[in-house]
Amino acid sequence: MPPDTTPCSACVTTECLEHAVPCAACEEPIWPGPQLQHAVHIELDTHQDGERLLVHAGCSNTPLLRCLYSTWDAHGGPEEGGWTFQCGSIEAAVPVALEYLSPTHARVTASADALLDGAFAGLPQRRVWSFGVPAASFPEKKPHFE
Ligand SMILES: [Zn+2]
Ligand SMILES: [Zn+2]
Repeated sequence: MPPDTTPCSACVTTECLEHAVPCAACEEPIWPGPQLQHAVHIELDTHQDGERLLVHAGCSNTPLLRCLYSTWDAHGGPEEGGWTFQCGSIEAAVPVALEYLSPTHARVTASADALLDGAFAGLPQRRVWSFGVPAASFPEKKPHFE
């Protein structure tokens, strides 16, 4: 179920926390009403139902990065015959070019992925999107067996 986005009476007159959505770039709330109407949708995939990011109009200039991590499995512990967890360290963070279809609708171009494909073919890898400074490695802490 998608979250209920129907505005309530508080949406119109106050900063309504229930219907605010976090900005993908600055993590501050995007308030319902004019702020949400002018927020920018960024399509991450070419297909219609692909993943999207939503940012404040004023945050749309924040550089969006395509980050590539080389990954490997680390030994976690002896439980249940041994288990592993995935680790990664950053190989590249490439700024993504946006193409605007309207002032509130943008989509990423394929150039960053094409660059990474050419440079890191064959590497066991994971790709993530990031605004700001990406993590140098993951996970931050060794996971516990559950
Ligand atoms: Zn509301
Ligand atoms: Zn923002």
